[in-house]
Amino acid sequence: MPKLQGRRVAITGGAQGIGRSIGEALIAAGARVALGDIQEALVKQAAAELGGGTTGYHVDVTDAVNFETFLDRATDDLGGLDVLVNNAGIMPIGPFLEESPNVTRRTVEIDVLGVMTGTRLAGTRFAKSGAGHIVNIASVMGTLASPNAATYCASKYAVVGFSAALRQEWRGTGVKISAICPGFVRTDLIAGMSAPGPLERFLVVNPEDVAAAVVAELVKGSSRTVFVPKLVGLVSRGTATLPAPVVDAAFRLSGGNKVTAELDHEKRASYQARIENQE
Ligand code: NAD
Repeated sequence: MPKLQGRRVAITGGAQGIGRSIGEALIAAGARVALGDIQEALVKQAAAELGGGTTGYHVDVTDAVNFETFLDRATDDLGGLDVLVNNAGIMPIGPFLEESPNVTRRTVEIDVLGVMTGTRLAGTRFAKSGAGHIVNIASVMGTLASPNAATYCASKYAVVGFSAALRQEWRGTGVKISAICPGFVRTDLIAGMSAPGPLERFLVVNPEDVAAAVVAELVKGSSRTVFVPKLVGLVSRGTATLPAPVVDAAFRLSGGNKVTAELDHEKRASYQARIENQE
């Protein structure tokens, strides 16, 4: 019997990248899936390609009415809903003082408020039945701050804290909540970015690795903060005990600051245009 046989899952940001990989891994584990994404044609194509009765819908996670409609459609298609994966997200990179207020606002609306909206809508449904699991895709940048990513770090720190608070609040209710914190993942979101050699081996993973961690978390049925790869979590937890100047120096010496400072703007241009023009 597959590990997640019959589990009914809605995934935001499912048209490509990590969201699509999570869908694929969940289907392989026996789950049934509905994908939502702001890129309508692409999410419908992804659903058709994943097969197994997967459906794909337009959703903008910043619009609560639209999000509720997506969950309604997913529930109808799947005959119920057991899991929501809040995966949709954008990552602006560059000096904060050069970031447009519109991009700052949009990032917080998608990466923070979108997660909160999804959690409120699905959490309300799950609380009524006393069962369900919300998986929030955060980031290692939600526990380790990086220069030139201030808005993104702020958003992901918010998601980690939000998920940890609800883990305690919902203890004993049957409703689970997990935060998944990947390092860097080979998707469009990191277009034009690169990590120095040793850091690349330590920090960069594939979307399939994140998807495997989501499957494992759902199988385990726990409410945890999970790092992918695990070593990133050890470093993150270790540095939390050190004085800030030591952490900052270690970050610089490891080349960590170069990841977000030395961009190939030509390679990043189409991603940047996508996140700036998505409204
Ligand atoms: P991606 O750009 O490939 O995919 C993100 C998807 O979210 C896209 O399909 C996009 O259309 C969708 N989306 C964006 N705004 C939306 C909105 N308002 N409503 C609905 N859908 C929307 O990026 P990815 O790397 O697959 O990122 C997925 C998640 O993983 C994000 O939350 C990201 O912050 C997180 N993450 C990514 C990395 C990485 O290095 N790639 C690392 C850690 C965490």
